[in-house]
Amino acid sequence: MSRVALVTGGSRGIGAAISMALKDAGYTVAANYAGNDEAAAKFTAETGIKTYKWSVADYDACAAGIAQVEADLGPVDVLVNNAGITRDAPFHKMTRDQWDQVIGTNLNGIFNMTHPLWNGMRDRKFGRIINISSINGQKGQFAQANYSAAKAGDIGFTKALAQEGARAGITVNAICPGYIATEMVMAVPEKVREQIIATIPVGRLGETGDIARCVVFLASDDAGFITGATLTANGGQYMT
Ligand code: NDP
Repeated sequence: MSRVALVTGGSRGIGAAISMALKDAGYTVAANYAGNDEAAAKFTAETGIKTYKWSVADYDACAAGIAQVEADLGPVDVLVNNAGITRDAPFHKMTRDQWDQVIGTNLNGIFNMTHPLWNGMRDRKFGRIINISSINGQKGQFAQANYSAAKAGDIGFTKALAQEGARAGITVNAICPGYIATEMVMAVPEKVREQIIATIPVGRLGETGDIARCVVFLASDDAGFITGATLTANGGQYMT
């Protein structure tokens, strides 16, 4: 029987590529999303991957959503915490709401999703948790105090939980993408994009598949000795 993978924010952007790559690798995939029903319906129609709507910022909704996924598909073996948002502002203009929303989705969200799944993975002596952090969690970014704090928090969470999961066969790793050519990045004016690309040694933006392939590897049995790691995939833009 194929393993079950749950991808948050799995119907658009990087998450959609992750969902599809895991499906191609033989997993039974569930893709969570927040509210874009149209994109989710289109994604399911094109890929056959089931989509589930709830906010990762809401613990009870996560617990209920996970229970539904497990009732439909079986116990979740692989969790990809990919859902994320930005609410950028220089700190002197940042509102409490902008702070709370980004922490609520990007940091609390990975607690809310991982916690209800944790004991099941421990009981079954197998699990893969893969957290999508960001280059900006590693180096900080102007006007992203909220986002950088949350994404750096995701890395700390990864390292702590990796220690707790190791003896139970659960690996916990983070991936830090650099600039990836999603709708968000492609909406930036071309001139600004060119300036960004000039700072990337490989000379191009990342593709969603660049991140999806990292996830497939970290989810695999071949990656069983890798835990607590931060896999940097940024074209050499920031070397840790
Ligand atoms: P997109 O904006 O393209 O997609 C975000 C996805 O997350 C959507 O499916 C969205 O759902 C979902 N989502 C947002 N909020 C919630 C929530 N509260 N609950 C459940 N799902 C939610 O993002 P990207 O593909 O660009 O980014 C994916 C991840 O990669 C994020 O964590 C981001 O921070 C990180 N990242 C992205 C980089 C980039 O260059 N793009 C660089 C570094 C890191 P819906 O479709 O319903 O809106």
